[in-house]
Amino acid sequence: KHERELEEIKKVYPEGIHNCIAGFLGKCEDIQVRTATFEMPEHGLPEEALDDTDVLIIWSHALQDEFSDEVAERVQQHVLAGMGLIALHSAHFSKVMKRLLGTSMTLKWKHGEIEIPKEEMYGEYFDIPKPDDVIFAGWFSGGQVFRSGCTFTRGLGKIFYFQPGHEEYPIYQMPEIQQIITNAVRYCAPALSKRKNLTCEEVK
Ligand code: ZN
Repeated sequence: KHERELEEIKKVYPEGIHNCIAGFLGKCEDIQVRTATFEMPEHGLPEEALDDTDVLIIWSHALQDEFSDEVAERVQQHVLAGMGLIALHSAHFSKVMKRLLGTSMTLKWKHGEIEIPKEEMYGEYFDIPKPDDVIFAGWFSGGQVFRSGCTFTRGLGKIFYFQPGHEEYPIYQMPEIQQIITNAVRYCAPALSKRKNLTCEEVK
């Protein structure tokens, strides 16, 4: 939504954040990528799509409250059944994450004072349940620290929350960030891919 409505975001992500992420993941031989956006019917996440998904990556900011409760419930059930979930940046406040982790997911935030690399400050206290592991501890120029990369398990599903990715800065274009997200996809993927017996041609 931001890149279509705000010129300054369009300059950073002309194709949208979803297509930026799909672009670098799609270059991996072991990963097949599709995108879904808010305005698609059922936000692009009908039962059939989730049935065919090993790992779902969510980035969300505006319209969190307008997200369908029914779709959030559906995503939650798929995670409990083993689908991996990666929540990026402000997706900590998504209905999906709140449902799965059961806390407010609130935190402190601030941006505009940070130079290189530019990023919005997210600070503690971050109201999440105790993570399985804190993979990344973020440090900001103002001295704040934040649990920037955390793993959780819910049911059979692995969840990774990763803080970087404010839409005003080209963070998902950084090779290091792309590598972390790619690693996270492999980490969160269920042991047996739902697509393991399908060739690329069959999937299409
Ligand atoms: Zn942000």
